[in-house]
Amino acid sequence: MKLVTVDFHTHSTFSDGYSNIETIVNYCVRKGLKAVGITDHYSHNAVKCSQIMEDLSGYFEELQSVSEMYRDKIVLMKGIEIDTRACVFDSPEECSILTSKKFDYYLFEYVTDNFGAGANFLPYKNNRMPLILLNRIRDFKKLLPKKCSVGLAHAYLHILPEKELKEAIEILIDADIFVELNSTYQNYKMEGFEKIFETDEIKLSLGSDAHTLHQIGKLTQPLKYVKEYNAEDRLVFMDGIDALEIEIRNV
Ligand SMILES: [Zn+2]
Repeated sequence: MKLVTVDFHTHSTFSDGYSNIETIVNYCVRKGLKAVGITDHYSHNAVKCSQIMEDLSGYFEELQSVSEMYRDKIVLMKGIEIDTRACVFDSPEECSILTSKKFDYYLFEYVTDNFGAGANFLPYKNNRMPLILLNRIRDFKKLLPKKCSVGLAHAYLHILPEKELKEAIEILIDADIFVELNSTYQNYKMEGFEKIFETDEIKLSLGSDAHTLHQIGKLTQPLKYVKEYNAEDRLVFMDGIDALEIEIRNV
């Protein structure tokens, strides 16, 4: 089994994942990962049951304590994935609750597609909607400390019409918002996504969107694209991780 030694998009039992945070981190250590990000859902969408809505502090404290427990073995990045269809942006109270914790990063999902997995794309209904959302993400980022990162989970940016894509890219660069290469959604493979790869200023992240342990680190495909485009130095959260070490083979 071939695994990449970093994975910045995983889910635990705090939302719709099947393993608890410690089990995930322990598994990653055993598989030789150098860094893992846990990004449970913060969502108003009932389909995605999320404990975080009721217990954001519990979630953050658990991340904090497991991170401490494993500090000599692995880097645990404390993340959260926010559904842009949730009305977070309209509620200053919610924004301030969300930004009150010291998360390392925030992932925003469904910026370009309405129902996930590309089933229903917004651009067919409203080309401007992804840009409106990007601007709101940019505003949200202004509430955060400088070192906190913000990125787009599994975004299908390439489906935007040319003019809108150009504007979107400008916002990503200006606001320093990274784009995730997601091995579940495989957005990096899609025709037109090369514009994202070809724009050197856009930062990238690797995420499996794992909900079960065996999905974690299955990122050799997106990593191949990163290497093809010579984009290794655009990967986020790689401080202290040797580029040569990001791919390993397990027996
Ligand atoms: Zn996810």
